[in-house]
Amino acid sequence: MLSNLAARDVETLIHPYTNLETFRETGPLVIERGHGVWVYDSDGRPYLEGMAGLWCTALGYSNEELVEAASEQMARLPFTHLFSGRSHDPAIELAEILKELMPVPTSKIFFTSSGSEANDTQVKLTWYMNNALGRPRKKKILSHIKGYHGVTVATASMTGLPANHADWDLPLPGFLHVGCPHHYRFAEAGESEDAFTTRLAAELEALILREGPETVAAFVAEPVLGAGGAILPPAGYYAKIQAVLDRHDVRFIADEVICGFGRLGTWFGSEAMGMAPDSLSFAKALTSGYLPLGGISVDEPLYRLMVQQSAKLGTFGHGTTYSGHPVACAVALKTIAIYKRDRIIEGVAEKAPQFQARLSALADHPLVGEARGIGLIGGIELVADKASRRQYEPKAGVAARVVAFAQAEGLIVRFLAGDRVAVCPPLVIAPSEIDTLFDRLGRALDRTE
Ligand code: PLP
Repeated sequence: MLSNLAARDVETLIHPYTNLETFRETGPLVIERGHGVWVYDSDGRPYLEGMAGLWCTALGYSNEELVEAASEQMARLPFTHLFSGRSHDPAIELAEILKELMPVPTSKIFFTSSGSEANDTQVKLTWYMNNALGRPRKKKILSHIKGYHGVTVATASMTGLPANHADWDLPLPGFLHVGCPHHYRFAEAGESEDAFTTRLAAELEALILREGPETVAAFVAEPVLGAGGAILPPAGYYAKIQAVLDRHDVRFIADEVICGFGRLGTWFGSEAMGMAPDSLSFAKALTSGYLPLGGISVDEPLYRLMVQQSAKLGTFGHGTTYSGHPVACAVALKTIAIYKRDRIIEGVAEKAPQFQARLSALADHPLVGEARGIGLIGGIELVADKASRRQYEPKAGVAARVVAFAQAEGLIVRFLAGDRVAVCPPLVIAPSEIDTLFDRLGRALDRTE
C-alpha cells in the first residue's frame, strides 16, 4: 500500500531511468532532507547516501556556506545572462578560477547547465572546428561501449548503453563505439591487462583506418566509466589510446562529469588516469550538486577559430538561457573555495586506501566476481559463477535485489547494467562512515540469494 505522497507521485510524475511498469507497484523513495552524508525519507528513516545523490553531492548535504552563497546571490542578482556580450561577476570569477585549475591547455571556459549539454557542446564545437579548418568530412565521434555521456540526441548517441539506443532510433550515423576497457569482463582467457589494453588500442586504430582518418574527428571518454558500471580501465590504457589518436589527428575529449573535482583523489580524473586530453567536460561536483552547472574548457587554437567563424557568420550561434547562471556560479565559487580551504581532494587521497581495501574485500563474497575502484568510487560485479565469471540471466535482477536490501539496511547504492553495483559517496565521508557503508553493503550481499 503506497503512502499518500507516493500515490500522488505515481499519478503525476515521470521518473528518468526508471522501469515505469514496476514503478507503479513499488512507488518512489521520497527523500525529504539531508545532513552530512545522510538523507532522510518522508518517514524520517536515515540512509547513508552511498551515491552522493547522482555522483554529485561531494560536500554532503545541508552545507550552510553553499546555502548562504546561493541565498546572497539570489538576493543580489538572481538572473542575468551571458548572451550578446552581457556578463556578471560570478561567471567571470569562476571562469578565471577554472582556467587555473584545468589540467589541459585552456584559453576560455564555456558554461552549460548539465553534463549532457557540456558533451553536446563538445560535439558541436568539434564539427564547427573542422568546418572552419576546411575539413568537412572529419566529423565522426568515437566513444566507449558502456560509456555514458548524456541524453541529448548527440550525447545519447555517444553513450554506449542499450537503454539509450533501443527504440530511440539512436545512435545517429557517424557515432561509433569502441571496446570497453573492462579487463575483468572483456579480456580473453589468460590475457594480461597489458595485452588487453594493447589489443584495444590496436582495435581503435583499425577502426580509424577502416573509416578513414580524414572522417574521424574525436574520441570522448570518461577517466573511470561511471553509469556504465563504475569501471576502472587498466593502468596505462589511456596512454596507448592517446598515441593512436595523436597519430591520426583525432581530438581527445575527457568527460570529467563524474571524475572532475576530486573523485579519484586528484582535481581531475585525467590526472589520475594519465590522460592528456585536448578539452574536458565537467558538471556535477562543480557545485556539489546544489545547483545545475556544467561546462567545457576551450584551448587557444579552437578559440581563435571560433572568433574567425564569428567574423564570417556574424555571431557564435550556440548557448542556452541558463549557461553560466549567476546563482549556480556563486555556489560553484564557494564549492571550489571549500575544496581548497578544507583540503577535500587531499582528503580523498588519504581516505582512498581504506575505502578501496573495504571495497576489494567484498570480492571474497560468493556473489561477487569483481570489486574494484580508485579514490572514492568503485563498482562490484555480481556473477552466477565466480570461477567462470558467468553472468546471471538478464532478467534475474540480482543487483537490483542487493540495492533493495542495502536500502533496507539504511544505505543507498545504485545498480547498473550488467549486474553491477556502484558506490560513490560524498567526498566528505568520514572514515567511520566508510566502515558503516561497507558493513551495510556486506549485509545486503549476505541477504541476497
Ligand atoms: N557524462 C557523464 C560521465 C555522466 O555521468 C553524466 C551523468 O551522469 C553525464 C555526462 C550527463 O550529465 P547530466 O545528467 O547532467 O546531463
